Amino acid sequence: MDRITERERTLTRRRFLGVGGLTTAAVLLGTSTINSHQALANPSFLDDPFKLGVASGDPLPNGVVLWTRLAPDPFDPSGGMPPEAFGVRYEVAEDPAFQRIRQRGTVEAMPELAHSVHAEVTGLLPGREYYYRFKAGPEISPVGRTKTAPAVGESVSAFKFAFASCQMYEHGYFTAYRHMASEDLDVVLHLGDSIYEHGPNQYRAASGNVRQHIGPEVSSLFDYRRRHAQYRTDPDLQAAHAAFPWIVTLDDHEIDNNWADEIPERNQSIEAFRQRRINAFQAYYEHMPLRSSAVPHGLDMQLYRRATFGDMVEFSVLDTRQYRDDQACGDGVDVDCADRLDPSRSIMGFEQERWLSDGLGRSNARWNVIAQQVVMAQFDHSSGPEQAFQNDIWDGYKPSRDRLFTGLIEQNVRNPVVLTGDVHRNLAMDLKSDFDNPDSTTIGVEFAGTSISSGGDGQDTDASGLTFLAANPHFKFNNTLRGYVRCSLTSSQGRTDYRVLPYVSQPGAPVSTRKSFIVEEGKPGLQDA
Ligand code: FE
Ligand code: CA
Repeated sequence: MDRITERERTLTRRRFLGVGGLTTAAVLLGTSTINSHQALANPSFLDDPFKLGVASGDPLPNGVVLWTRLAPDPFDPSGGMPPEAFGVRYEVAEDPAFQRIRQRGTVEAMPELAHSVHAEVTGLLPGREYYYRFKAGPEISPVGRTKTAPAVGESVSAFKFAFASCQMYEHGYFTAYRHMASEDLDVVLHLGDSIYEHGPNQYRAASGNVRQHIGPEVSSLFDYRRRHAQYRTDPDLQAAHAAFPWIVTLDDHEIDNNWADEIPERNQSIEAFRQRRINAFQAYYEHMPLRSSAVPHGLDMQLYRRATFGDMVEFSVLDTRQYRDDQACGDGVDVDCADRLDPSRSIMGFEQERWLSDGLGRSNARWNVIAQQVVMAQFDHSSGPEQAFQNDIWDGYKPSRDRLFTGLIEQNVRNPVVLTGDVHRNLAMDLKSDFDNPDSTTIGVEFAGTSISSGGDGQDTDASGLTFLAANPHFKFNNTLRGYVRCSLTSSQGRTDYRVLPYVSQPGAPVSTRKSFIVEEGKPGLQDA
């Protein structure tokens, strides 16, 4: 064997070979429902290209989107892939052994999108469990499980979901996701902070940082890709993604803390921040099981959307970052901020406000869930007679909340339930027509979920939480242990279980239910289970 051949062999091992002459029938980013046995070039990989796992998302009655990303060397700028597109096959079966395959096809993994794969599968049956896997060259991915939505209008007797947010990699292990993966769920919602932008140890947990971010505070496209890839290597996160379809939305840390539309937190020109947002959106799309409707177009990414599950539940998934006005009064906690009352300001933009109100008015679902980022209920931070409000959350955009609540009341929306991330604590609230009057009508409920790991271990009872409970009579529960929230809906009631872990600073914590609430159908308000 001469030297040149030997060198080629080395190159083969370093990257992979054989993409030349590749043909694929796949549509860019789209669905290929054509059964495809086209000859693929015979690529071989130095290493497992499926190190970032598999995921599915945005279930419809006839299909889901299946996600993976080819990255044999996930932290390399190329992901360990050559700058060429190639076909990735997928199979969807009724059984985990793939004896009864119901759909297969090929989609293209493009270098421009970091060789991510978003296969929008159709032709599946409603309300069914399916198994899926990908094939790239000789390599086969881990198997994922997913579930389609029930048919539109179909009578559904029970529906189960969980929601989560805020997974700061350095602050703790993602043990909560390991436990979530063994639940029996129809769908998982993620409410934001799926990555954090900080450089190593820029953001410290009280219980100490237990792992380290690779690379500096993220800004370039490569920075964001590598950060998402690092999070996606976590085996617990992979297990939860592989177990259920997810519906994801983002909050601030996918881009920059407390950003608002085109305005960064600090220390950046608007121009630099615009480019940063473009980079962040692209990497977010590349690493999430999102449909082509969410493909970013420069500065814009369409994330607010609805998901309907038979006659049982309709989720309105919001984007309260991309279209909001800048935080009022310098974005702190203020006692007296007149700007927060300005009706020309909005937390989600007037177009999204209309979309939300219209959708809620038209909904035929028994439970109408608004899945979103920041605390919606009035949230007085001060124990004194004065009221101190945080301007990054709905309190800083009070007229947006008033308009939403007016719409809920006037349109007689059935069983409104708000889900919230961001706050790194478990909270449960009654949503009041007048928060300053405890005797006013309760029009719905809000469940704020703790973080997966952000903030570190947390506590069962904390001093701030006691203040919040005392200052806000509509708050019914507070706790800062980490975990996720599980909800079960039937035609007569909703049940919410706060699932918590005693610690996240070590792996292997057990999970338990710390608190449960019941909401009776047609009777807004929290009841102890
Ligand atoms: Fe967070
Ligand atoms: Ca007060």
